Amino acid sequence: KEEHVRKPEWLKIKLNTNESYTNLKKMMREKKLHTVCEEARCPNIHECWAVRKTATFMILGDICTRACRFCAVKTGLPTELDLQEPERVADSVSDMGLKHVVITAVARDDLKDGGAEVFAETVRAIRRKNPFCTIEVLPSDMLGNENSLKTLMDARPNIMNHNIETVRRLSPRVRARATYDRTLEFLRRAKEMHDDIPTKSSLMIGLGETKEEIIETMDDLRANNVNIMTIGQYLQPTKKHLKVQKYYHPDEFAELREIAMSKGFSHCEAGPLVRSSYHADEQVNQAQVN
Ligand code: SF4
Ligand code: SF4
Repeated sequence: KEEHVRKPEWLKIKLNTNESYTNLKKMMREKKLHTVCEEARCPNIHECWAVRKTATFMILGDICTRACRFCAVKTGLPTELDLQEPERVADSVSDMGLKHVVITAVARDDLKDGGAEVFAETVRAIRRKNPFCTIEVLPSDMLGNENSLKTLMDARPNIMNHNIETVRRLSPRVRARATYDRTLEFLRRAKEMHDDIPTKSSLMIGLGETKEEIIETMDDLRANNVNIMTIGQYLQPTKKHLKVQKYYHPDEFAELREIAMSKGFSHCEAGPLVRSSYHADEQVNQAQVN
């Protein structure tokens, strides 16, 4: 019988749901927008929305053509492409007074360009309406389509984020269609196209990887000139998703952060509740591009 790993104290946190949060949720519904903050029931939502003025929008719909085994987003065949979405996202960024915004998207493998044009237009629309808001993009690999990547990079986001998610050995079990090497290649090419735009990648741990494998992932990211890394605890979204194999102690995260910094990342966030977009606002200015 499989042992159940118990959730430690430092992960038991209460969701803060005050009035401004309720209003913002209402606005999202009215504008037919989706945020990862809500969909993933992210524990940092109060800190991000109210204090740090940052949020993560998920564009191109809320149905993904892939089904990664760690991810709670619905899977299916999306039916439409909403060409007005970029303007509505840009308006919401104004309404929320955001200083930093992360734009991610479901993987639209049904579209020829993977949704790159709408993605790029979202970046441009936000910039037109909010010239001082920094913009981080977190796209899927768009099936490795180089033109799609170029379309998005040419919109000049402040950070290009593309997640490695897990170590090489576990990638085929954890991720759907995306591969470890294609992710590295995506990050390398992005840097080759615009070498002044910092690149970033996130790793979830707790899926059964070893410490050596985590360090190997850091080396692989650095070998492809990735500037920023985040490391967070994997949490099982529902019983159907992959089980947590290990809960890392905050001290272990601190040690991993030290190791990452010694490898030459200009910024690394590591901690139990760290998500790809956590404290992203701080990374824009600190990121050295090399
Ligand atoms: Fe949203 Fe990311 Fe902040 Fe969570 S960490 S609330 S997903 S911006
Ligand atoms: Fe979730 Fe992204 Fe995988 Fe789709 S491609 S299932 S949104 S992690």
